[in-house]
Order: sequence, then C-alpha cells, then structure tokens
Amino acid sequence: MVKAVVGANWGDEGKGKITDMLGKEADIIVRFQGGANAGHTIVNNYGKFALHTLPSGVFYDHTTSVIGNGVALHVPTLIKEIQGLVDRGVPKPKILVSDRAQMVMSYHILFDQYEEERLAGKSFGSTKSGIAPFYSDKYAKIGFQVSELFDEASLKEKAERVCVTKNVMLEHLYHKPVLNPEDIYRELLEYKEMIAPYVCDVSSYLWNAIQEGKEILLEGQLGSLKDPDHGIYPMVTSSSTLAAYGAIGAGIPPYEIKKIITVCKAYSSAVGAGAFVSEIFGEEADELRRRGGDGGEYGATTGRPRRMGWFDCVASRYGCRIQGTTDVAFTVLDVLGYLDEIPVCVAYDIDGKITTEFPTTAMLEKAKPVIEKLPGWKCDIRGIKKYEDLPENCRRYVEFVEEKIGFPITMVSNGPGREDIIYR
Ligand code: GDP
Repeated sequence: MVKAVVGANWGDEGKGKITDMLGKEADIIVRFQGGANAGHTIVNNYGKFALHTLPSGVFYDHTTSVIGNGVALHVPTLIKEIQGLVDRGVPKPKILVSDRAQMVMSYHILFDQYEEERLAGKSFGSTKSGIAPFYSDKYAKIGFQVSELFDEASLKEKAERVCVTKNVMLEHLYHKPVLNPEDIYRELLEYKEMIAPYVCDVSSYLWNAIQEGKEILLEGQLGSLKDPDHGIYPMVTSSSTLAAYGAIGAGIPPYEIKKIITVCKAYSSAVGAGAFVSEIFGEEADELRRRGGDGGEYGATTGRPRRMGWFDCVASRYGCRIQGTTDVAFTVLDVLGYLDEIPVCVAYDIDGKITTEFPTTAMLEKAKPVIEKLPGWKCDIRGIKKYEDLPENCRRYVEFVEEKIGFPITMVSNGPGREDIIYR
C-alpha cells in the first residue's frame, strides 16, 4: 500500500517525525518533490538530526530510501548527508536515486542569491538553495537529468549550450562573472562519480514493489499553502507540495495512493514572506517560538526564527482538503500546555465579510483573523499514551479543531520522539 505524509500548512508541521514513526512499518520511503531548501528534524535513538534531502526513513535498516524524479537533487548535499549519518553511527542506508531526477547545479544556487540581491527588500525570502532557478530550468528544458550524465559527448555539448543562455543573464541582468562551460562540464562529471552507485529506474522499481505488496511512504516537503498552484502564490515553493504530485514525482499510478496523512500543527508557524492571517508578534510570539517544536521554532535548514501564529482553521481546512486528506496527524500539541486560554482563528474577516473559505492571495492579504478562545489545560501532556487520558480541555481543543477542519484527526503527537503518539 502507498501512503503519503504531507503538510496542511506552511511546512514545519512535523512531517519528519510522523514519517519516521510510520517508517517502522514501511519498506520504502520516497521523497517526491522539493530540494534541500527545507529540512526535517528527527529525534530518535541515534540523536537529533536535520535532514534536507534524504527521506526520514534512513534511520531504519529495513527501509530503502528513494529520491524520486520530482526532487531537486543537489548531489553534494546528498553525499554529505549520507556521510553525516554514517559518521554518527547510523547504519549506511540503502538509497536509490531516480535516473530521471534532475540536479541542482552550482549556478542555480548563485542565480538564487543574485535574484534575491536584485529584489532586495521585495524578495520572496528564498533559502537561496537554488530551488526556483532549478525548477525554472527544468520546465524551460535546460536542466540536467541524472541519466544525461552517462552520455559524456552530449553532456559537454549541452553544458556549452546552457552557458550561452545563463551568461546573457549573468552579464546583463546581474553584472556577475560569467560561467565557463568547461567548469560546468567538470562539475557534472564530479556529480556522476558521486551519484553513480545509487542510480536506479525508480518508477519501475516502485511498480514492482507495489505488485509485491510492499509498504511505501511518500514523504512531502513543506505544505499545501506553499504549493505553486493551490498555495499563496507567489510566496510559494517551486514544486507541488500536494500528495497528488507524489504520483508524478515518484512515478507511480495515482490510484495507488490509498492513504493521505496530512500533518497539521496545533499552532501555526511559517518561514519566508507572504500573508499569514493568524500571525502573532512581540512577547506572545517569542514565547510560543521559544517553547515550540523541539527546542524552539527555528528553520532546520536556515536557523531563521519562524513566524508564529495561532491555529488557523480556515487555512488548515483548505490545506487538508486540497491534499485529499484521509487522516490528520495533529502535532506538537504538548507545546500549548502553558497557556491559560488558547486563541484559535476560526474565520477570516475580509472587508467586513466573514468567511471560512480560504481565498486567493490578493484577498488573503486583506483578511483579518476572527479569533475564538478555548480554555487551556495547563499541564504537561507528554508521555500520555491514550486519548482518554488527555485532560478534558485538551480533548476539547482537538475535537474543536477536528470539527472545524472537517477531517478526522486519527493521530495526536504529544512530543518529538517516535513513541510520543496517541492513536484515536
Ligand atoms: P517538518 O519539516 O514538517 O518535518 O517539520 P520540522 O522538522 O520543523 O518539525 C517540527 C519540529 O517539531 C521538530 O523539531 C520536531 O522534532 C518537533 N516535533 C514534531 N512533533 C512534535 C510534537 O508532537 N511535540 C513536540 N514538542 N515537538 C514535535
């Protein structure tokens, strides 16, 4: 059976933890989109890890980790990450990389930086990992697919061709040093050396695995609201964050994805620019940020402080719907235990009109949160294993959210560890 683990919101919902936990039952874990721009934080018996490229299943010795064709693959990051695990005593994971995955080149990272510099104050808050330039090139058909590394003559010719286009931009738009095709060719050959042991026809591998009844997890990065089509465009990422894209980014039939586990955090956080209706500021935000996640809400890749807000029922209901949610995993609930009252955004006020429908970006910019307050439970709920054992106000909070978002919360996460989970 194929299951997808995806985010309902802006990312950082705790997908890594849920994937790591579900990975126990999985044979194969697949990354199907995104690159090394966001990260998952995972806490397990080997320690605390920030993963950027590898799927969260790499810590088990019974799983195979797959980098699907939809991923923006930065080869040096992948190799460094594998080495980083091995150095800390994690058994060397089994890793397969799709021969159809495309590679993030050093110039993609440069273009990302140059564009942010050019936009200055109007920037998108990119993590400058080259993701937007990478996907632009992929769809402009001047990207490099892993399979192309193995045909050196055409590779050389293509490197020259790509440099012509890139150099016009470098010279005339960014006023930066131009690329030398020889350097690009050499970079590609280095990537070939590094990646060769892992290359695989992933869609065929997964097709066979499905026929054999294997358990496959698709692990999404970021969340619904960062999807280029259905998110808060243009403050989005450059690849689809939706479970539906899992079929394309892994190369499997869409009808094989039987369960869509949408991860939803008990409060909101976001990185980068863009409308964030339930955002809070000042000491209120600082306290939630300090207490949030596992050791504070700071970017796993960038270390940037995350923007904080209360739970947003409008965004989360939409985020769950657009994912095609079958199950909601409601995470980081333990963090809210310090509050006397918990504010929740239940609707948006847009020019005096109250709505629970998530609007397009221009309208979203105008939305003001309609807040309802729920009583807090004022205690530590970590370690609780049964739903009935949660304090009454805590259950009320879960049930209130469930009713508002309209999808079943079947898992409640009350701590960062694998075993900190309550099934309903
Ligand atoms: P992802 O990108 O969706 O995987 O999200 P992050 O890596 O940002 O994960 C969110 C953070 O919350 C990580 O530091 C996790 O270890 C932590 N975390 C996940 N679930 C829980 C939970 O239920 N409680 C607490 N306190 N922390 C959690």
